[in-house]
Amino acid sequence: PSFAAETTAEAGAAARPLAAVTGAELQAPLIQGGHVRYANLDYGASAPALTIVSAHLNEILPYYASVHRGAGYASQISTSVYENSRNIVREFVGGRADDSVIFTRNTTDSLNLLAGCLPHTDGQPVGEVLYLDIEHHANLLPWQGVPHRSVVAATTLAATLDKLRAELAQGGVSLLAVTGASNVTGEILPIAQLASLAHEHGARIVVDAAQLAPHRRINIAEADVDYLVFSGHKLYAPFGAGVVVGRPDWLDSGIPHLAGGGAVREARLDSVSWATGPARHEGGSPNVLGAATLARATQVLAGLDQEAWHAHEAAIRSYLVEGLEAIDGVTVHRIFSDSEDTIGVVNFSVEGFDAGLVAAYLAAEHGVGLRDGRFCAHPLLKRLGLPSGSLRASFGVGSRLEDATRLLAGIEGLKRDGL
Ligand code: PLP
Repeated sequence: PSFAAETTAEAGAAARPLAAVTGAELQAPLIQGGHVRYANLDYGASAPALTIVSAHLNEILPYYASVHRGAGYASQISTSVYENSRNIVREFVGGRADDSVIFTRNTTDSLNLLAGCLPHTDGQPVGEVLYLDIEHHANLLPWQGVPHRSVVAATTLAATLDKLRAELAQGGVSLLAVTGASNVTGEILPIAQLASLAHEHGARIVVDAAQLAPHRRINIAEADVDYLVFSGHKLYAPFGAGVVVGRPDWLDSGIPHLAGGGAVREARLDSVSWATGPARHEGGSPNVLGAATLARATQVLAGLDQEAWHAHEAAIRSYLVEGLEAIDGVTVHRIFSDSEDTIGVVNFSVEGFDAGLVAAYLAAEHGVGLRDGRFCAHPLLKRLGLPSGSLRASFGVGSRLEDATRLLAGIEGLKRDGL
């Protein structure tokens, strides 16, 4: 993509990164709310589709037809677009040559799929899944249906790693399930270190990259991560597609995620031999458009100037954190006191004000959209002393410093005028 020069009056020292990552082609479509530009600070829930991605959708829409089942021209195109999307995604995450790339509905679906693929001997599960209490429910609840253990994270990353090491040393863990970045606070976890910790103790690792993948390049071969999962709709692509990338052995012997057409080698009236490879889990007609747009979004992100991209998000983040902390009664939350790297997420609360009412006020009075609540991370919110929730501003490619300015003005207005 080419980057149109565009800076905002507030950009100041951050002008270069902002200019690089707010180019017209990367600009998400803006919703005009009344007289003001809608400030979308809810990328962490679903990031707006990039214009390049929506153009790609329109480009392939006329050609879609059955995948793997038709000999016709459109079917051939669809099949090739779909299969090529796997290769694009594998390349994006630095996958090993034999890693499976399975398309799912979203990250939640991907983790549920993996929960059906844990190792068994003689029909009995081998080992337990280990996870932290900071996880999104998508990376908590699928494991509650299989043998599992959990660890309460410490207030530092270093001490949390020690706790995980001690738990892994007890033995019997088959899989460490961990997020790449907290969807609540944006703090990034050291996935390569966690992978080597898991492997030292004979376990594998799955990284929930729903939040990390839209903000950082991940190389699973280099980080030695066994499984990576993420969603298209947080990665500037439409809803409805997610992915599991990882080692084929467990995936090829696991419970087929969607039993049905395409997932079998041979079906008989009352028995079946299941396929191996992605087909095993992708029964039924697949989401070609979802896979292709997800793949297209990964190409856009891969083509960004990484340094400018991160500097852009970091500039908005530090401006927002400093601005919020300067307002009396506003607290910015974090999990770890020693985490150094953070994606474009800021979590905060305003003393004396209900988070839901603040979010509604910001939307109605200031045209600012953000998320409030418990972020599908009830155990963490409870432990952080936020049982009734907090507020989350999240941003990324196409976000502007002025979005953060609008949020700060909104909170100042709230403090001044009340609800
Ligand atoms: N994991 C994390 C860290 C998330 O932030 C989310 C969504 O908020 C999910 C998993 C679930 O993603 P999806 O709703 O696309 O399944």
